[in-house]
This record gives sequence, C-alpha cells and structure tokens, in this order.
Amino acid sequence: MRVKCPTCRREIEWSEAPLRPFCSERCRLIDLGAWLTERNAIPGEAAPGEAGASPDRNRSTEI
Ligand SMILES: [Zn+2]
Repeated sequence: MRVKCPTCRREIEWSEAPLRPFCSERCRLIDLGAWLTERNAIPGEAAPGEAGASPDRNRSTEI
C-alpha cells in the first residue's frame, strides 16, 4: 500500500516505512515541531509545491 508523507507529500510504501506515515525521521520531526511550536522549527525545509496552499481546501491528487 502506498501512502503520502504528510510533511513532504512523497509517496512511500507503507509496509517499508518504519516511521510511517512519514517517509523519514526528518519529516516526522518537522511535523512534530510544527505541531508543538506552530512555526517552522526547521527553516529551509519547506515542502515543495505546498507553499501557500491549504491542504484542506486543495485535496486534488498531485500526480
Ligand atoms: Zn517526507
């Protein structure tokens, strides 16, 4: 099964992702940091194609 990383939107294989639903620990920490601090905890790590877009409004498939 393929899922999208909530942080960077990269597709990952669910069964092969130990840090699911994230693709990597970095993405997990980014999401956690954003959650806790409500600001970009790691500057320069903006997800490509996500700037300014509201995920809740724009739920169309990107691929
Ligand atoms: Zn990711």
